[in-house]
Amino acid sequence: MVKAIVGANWGDEGKGKITDMLAEESDIIVRFQGGSNAGHTIINEYGKFALHLLPSGVFYNHTTSIIGNGVALNIPYLLNEIKSLEERGVPTPKILVSDRAQILMPYHVDFDTYEEARLAGKSFGSTKSGIAPFYSDKYAKIGFQVSELFDEVALKEKVERVVEYKNILLEHLYHKPLLDAEEVFKLMLSYKEMIAPYVADVSLYLHNAIKEGKNILLEGQLGALKDPDHGIYPMVTSSSTLAAYGAIGAGIPAAEIKDVVTVVKAYSSAVGAGAFVSEIFGDEADELRRRGGDGGEFGATTGRPRRMGWFDAVATRYGVRMQGTTEVALTVLDVLGYLDEIPMCVGYEIDGKVTKDFPTTHLLEKAKPVLKTMPGWKCDIRGIKNYDELPQACKDYIDAIEEEIQAPITLVSNGPKRHDIIKRESKLKK
Ligand code: GDP
Repeated sequence: MVKAIVGANWGDEGKGKITDMLAEESDIIVRFQGGSNAGHTIINEYGKFALHLLPSGVFYNHTTSIIGNGVALNIPYLLNEIKSLEERGVPTPKILVSDRAQILMPYHVDFDTYEEARLAGKSFGSTKSGIAPFYSDKYAKIGFQVSELFDEVALKEKVERVVEYKNILLEHLYHKPLLDAEEVFKLMLSYKEMIAPYVADVSLYLHNAIKEGKNILLEGQLGALKDPDHGIYPMVTSSSTLAAYGAIGAGIPAAEIKDVVTVVKAYSSAVGAGAFVSEIFGDEADELRRRGGDGGEFGATTGRPRRMGWFDAVATRYGVRMQGTTEVALTVLDVLGYLDEIPMCVGYEIDGKVTKDFPTTHLLEKAKPVLKTMPGWKCDIRGIKNYDELPQACKDYIDAIEEEIQAPITLVSNGPKRHDIIKRESKLKK
């Protein structure tokens, strides 16, 4: 059975924690898109970890962790991440890397940095991990698949061609030092040595695993609103964040994804530029940021403060719909326990009209939040294991979210740890 775990919002919903928890009953966990530009924070018996490339299931002995073909594979980064787990006492995970994954090169990071500098005030707020240049190259067919490392003659010839093209941009657009084809080629040969032990025909492996009835998790990065097609373009990421892409980025048939667990945050946070309708500012935002997540809402990759906002029912309902959600995990609910009243954005006012349908970017820029307020529960709900024991105001808040997003909330997360989770029966059918 294949299950996808994806985000409904702008990322940082707590997918890592939910994956880590569901991985307990899984055999295989697959990353299918993105790269080291976003991080998952996981807390378990080994300590606190910020994973960027490895899937969140690496902490179990019984799981195989897979980097699918859809991922931007930064090879030294991956090996460092594996090493850092081993150094902290985590048993060496079983890892497979797709022979069709493409390689994120140091020049992708350079181009990302140069382009953000060139755009200056109009920049995307990229994490400068090379993601946009990487995916541009992939679709321009000047990227390098892992499999290409194993044909040195063809590789050398292609490196020369690609470097020639890159150097034109470096010289005339960015005025930066040029690449040396020989050096790039040598670097690739070193990458081959590093990655060779992990390389596999992942699609075939998953095909056989599905036939054998194995439990497979597809772990998404970022959230629906950062999808390049369906998100807040152009302030999006460069690979699809939707569960549907999980099939492509892992190499399995679309119809195999039977369950889509969409992770929804009980309030909003976002990084980078772009419209954020329910955003709050000043002391109100500072307090939520400070109390948010586990030790504050600061980027797992960059450490920069996240932008904060109230729960946005319009954006989340859209995110939940685009993901093809079968069930929802509602996270960070414990964080809201300090509020007397909890505002929620239930509509967008655009040009004097109120809508509940998430618009395209140029209209989104004009949207003003229509807020409704719910009573807070004013207590700490961490440690509660049974849904019935939650304060009534807290259950009412959950019911209100479910009503707005029209998808069954089956899991409620009330703390950062693996077992800080409450199962919930939903009136909506799964
Ligand atoms: P991801 O990229 O979707 O995996 O999200 P991140 O890991 O970037 O952000 C989630 C943050 O919230 C992490 O610091 C988690 O440890 C923390 N977290 C996850 N679920 C909960 C929760 O229910 N309550 C609290 N307080 N923190 C949580």
